[in-house]
Amino acid sequence: MSDIPAREAKVFMQAGRRMPVTLVRGEGTRVWDDEGKAYLDFVDGIASTSLGHADPGLVEAVSSQIGTLHHVSNLFYTVPQIELAELLVKHSAFDRVYFQNSGAEANEAAIKLARKWGQLHRNGAYEIISTTNSFHGRTMMTVSATGTPRYREPFGPSVPGFVFVDYDDIEALRAATTPQTAAILLEPVQGEGGVNVPAEGYLAQVRAWCDAQGILLIYDEVQTGVGRLGTLWGYQQSGVAPDIMTLAKGLAGGVPIGAVLAKEHAAVFEPGDHGSTFGGNPLSTAAGLYVLRRIAEGDVLANVQERGEQLERSLASLEDRFPVVKGVRGRGLLRGLELHEDIAPDVVSAALARGLLANPVRPNVVRLMPPLTVSATEVDEAVAILEQALASVVNS
Ligand SMILES: *Cc1c(COP(=O)(O)O)cnc(C)c1O
Repeated sequence: MSDIPAREAKVFMQAGRRMPVTLVRGEGTRVWDDEGKAYLDFVDGIASTSLGHADPGLVEAVSSQIGTLHHVSNLFYTVPQIELAELLVKHSAFDRVYFQNSGAEANEAAIKLARKWGQLHRNGAYEIISTTNSFHGRTMMTVSATGTPRYREPFGPSVPGFVFVDYDDIEALRAATTPQTAAILLEPVQGEGGVNVPAEGYLAQVRAWCDAQGILLIYDEVQTGVGRLGTLWGYQQSGVAPDIMTLAKGLAGGVPIGAVLAKEHAAVFEPGDHGSTFGGNPLSTAAGLYVLRRIAEGDVLANVQERGEQLERSLASLEDRFPVVKGVRGRGLLRGLELHEDIAPDVVSAALARGLLANPVRPNVVRLMPPLTVSATEVDEAVAILEQALASVVNS
């Protein structure tokens, strides 16, 4: 075992937990540790390295941009930023874009938009209805918007103005709506909450409710956007679009970026309202441009649909062999293997030892989110490792 974990323990603020492995290199769906051991990467930088590791086109786009112009601030116009904004508008239901560096920042911008919209168009309404088990980021305002109390309780008081209702419960949303409500904030599939897919029709009902009440609908598509669910945007699977959508994780294939997209009526920022030193810099937007072109205009989405169905089928077949397997949830290449017992961390450790990176997103859910370019053979290989890992845990 390398000395990196021991060195980390001395100097790093341990705000999270890591798997006992130090990764040094990647190619396609595979990564290697500092002892030369290979792993299939079904974590994908948390659904971020959408074209896999060291994609030659992405390497070229980033290398060429860093050798040309990588940062000048938003005091000036730059070409890749405007080209990426144009491409996002062309391929989505939205009219305007603002770039950030992360998902939390994109959500901050979305919440600021909703609050300003409330001041302008709804008598100062500022409340945002969010859902339990949601995840919207780790900044002070986005943890306040996150329906997982343990993320915000150490840092109280929370930012006021957030109300929580159960996910996938339209009646609860209706009951929580008041004249103070400015917006409803939702993930079309909850990612960090455990890969929770709402019932058919829920998102369309939420859209209809927002229209009837004259309030905004915001989708946090930081995890679900840019092809992860098999369509370019998660909202396309519900047949309705929100007024505001946020993106980050997969948008630039693992290069840090965030974006908030809005329809014209919700795009209420004016000069001076918002800003970012690095947001939308030429380097990250050149990466985003390359990745979005590949996903929106190439054959990546077809692969997500086919490999997603393959993954679902193979995971579902584990149900017959392992009574501990409860079922499979998710869409496209965002899948959760649900277990009857809280053994997900043990299964993930056993998989790691056998050369597969997976994520215990909940004590009873193993989350799998490979690159959108994963091959059929790699899916088979990953499920075979997972099967051995399950067998080793259940039989131990
Ligand atoms: C990861 C995630 C975020 C936070 O993104 P960061 O880039 O880590 O700030 C927000 N919302 C959702 C749905 C996410 O999955």
